Amino acid sequence: MNEATINDDQPNNDFQCHHIFPDGFRCGSPRMRDEQFCYFHHDSRRPVVRPHERLARRSTFSLFTPTSHDAIQESLGELLIRIAANDIDPRRAGLLLYCLQIASANLRVAQKTQQTQTPPEPDSN
Ligand SMILES: [Zn+2]
Repeated sequence: MNEATINDDQPNNDFQCHHIFPDGFRCGSPRMRDEQFCYFHHDSRRPVVRPHERLARRSTFSLFTPTSHDAIQESLGELLIRIAANDIDPRRAGLLLYCLQIASANLRVAQKTQQTQTPPEPDSN
């Protein structure tokens, strides 16, 4: 029996990451050049500081196009729930609220213009 036969079950051993998982298995990813570990297990890869905040920053959801007061109210409700549940990055929430504020103001102006442009009802005699 020679050494090549012994190592047959792990042919790429030299290129494999040295990380051992809690269940005893070795990470199968290739190691980085001149390093013992793969990119994922290398200690230069810092753990996520505040995972919940990162998730909140990256989470996506859809809002209604703010073409009516109802749509704006729905979006406000959605934002309110997410802010309360700490599910949205506060900065992004602030931006969205600002957008909704502009949309609401624009809608009011548009409705006022529409009202002044409609001819008054003719007197019914
Ligand atoms: Zn690894």
